[in-house]
Amino acid sequence: MIRINEHYTKLKASYLFSDIAKRVSAFQEAHPEKDVIKLGIGDVTRALPTACVEAFHKAVDDMATEAGFHGYGPEQGYAFLRDAIAENDFKSRGADISPDEIFVSDGAKCDTGNIQEIFSGDATIAIPDPVYPVYLDTNVMAGRTGANNDGRYEGVVYLDCREENGFIPALPEKPVDLIYLCFPNNPTGTTITKAQLKAWVDYAKENRAIILYDAAYEAFVTDESLPRSIYEVEGAKEVAIEFRSFSKTAGFTGTRCAFTVVPKELKAWDADGNAHSVHALWNRRHCTKFNGVSYPVQKAAAAVYSEEGKAQVKGLVDYYLNNAAIIRKEMAALGYELVGGDNSPYIWINGKCDSWEFFDLLLTKAGVVCTPGAGFGSCGNGFIRISAFNSLENVEKAMARIREALN
Ligand code: PLP
Repeated sequence: MIRINEHYTKLKASYLFSDIAKRVSAFQEAHPEKDVIKLGIGDVTRALPTACVEAFHKAVDDMATEAGFHGYGPEQGYAFLRDAIAENDFKSRGADISPDEIFVSDGAKCDTGNIQEIFSGDATIAIPDPVYPVYLDTNVMAGRTGANNDGRYEGVVYLDCREENGFIPALPEKPVDLIYLCFPNNPTGTTITKAQLKAWVDYAKENRAIILYDAAYEAFVTDESLPRSIYEVEGAKEVAIEFRSFSKTAGFTGTRCAFTVVPKELKAWDADGNAHSVHALWNRRHCTKFNGVSYPVQKAAAAVYSEEGKAQVKGLVDYYLNNAAIIRKEMAALGYELVGGDNSPYIWINGKCDSWEFFDLLLTKAGVVCTPGAGFGSCGNGFIRISAFNSLENVEKAMARIREALN
């Protein structure tokens, strides 16, 4: 008799976005005349940069010729893309990352979800609350947690992010092995300073822990004093893996391209205390289970680093940041406390009531969909997340409706 992986049965039954979809479709069925503006799910809405589209087309045409055809590529990604990433995303910011430390993939979701499998099953994990749910659920699936009681899994060290700590978690009180951090943060939109990040790097060194740093939203950091990569902090190469994505940077959510940086000096230990290269472990895992991102998609991603690509990506990011500034201004004017939205596409708003109550209020009174903070963890209760990924017209319309409904 084939048995299931019973750790899956510990997962909380419903997924946040399907709950939202159910409420929205119930509302739409009851009020077919009302149009709904979705500022909920964090998917981009603008077209791909033309530099990427042109490179994409050209690469597809290459595939139509014997000379330009590409079959299986290197699992870790083509050199043209890894070189461009190392130079533009890291070396130009003083972070010494070499191309062979970069693993190109089809998404930061897969990488942040899969990375845990190269570490021991009994590793103690520290996870922020609220959090991008992938980090938590993949550890539940792998059996690193106990049951879920009152919204929290046994065995997880939760890093509370609340107004009191500016949504930047304090260092754990007891030693942990794997630490998930995400900045600019999803869902709170907060950013971290170099000094704050340095404290985490120092902690990881002292405890021989590893930081899994999700920088999927780094492109939204416009404040030059803030780090865009954890490797801008001295010593981070010894203790951190960084996840990046072209999804939010360049509108690749439907095109799929991302990368993970695993520095060569990063070590983890076996039960006998022997050190192992994490780079070698991840390389083994990646090559065994992944066959590379398609050549045209990698060509499209490399175009992000061309002069036109850089200008167009900046245009996209600025467009969404302008939306975020409008949302911030309008919600603050209505008297709500909020964070995020200045170096991030997300605005985290204290709704002064239950998250789902506030969600229902915005849906029924203003026809606007947000994301209830409670769906990201128990510290998210009382908050909602509004996303700036939409057209300027929709953001302005949504804010006018909210103003009218809540004033
Ligand atoms: N990491 C964070 C924090 C995210 O919010 C998301 C997507 O919303 C991802 C990773 C997924 O990125 P990708 O599209 O590259 O899978």
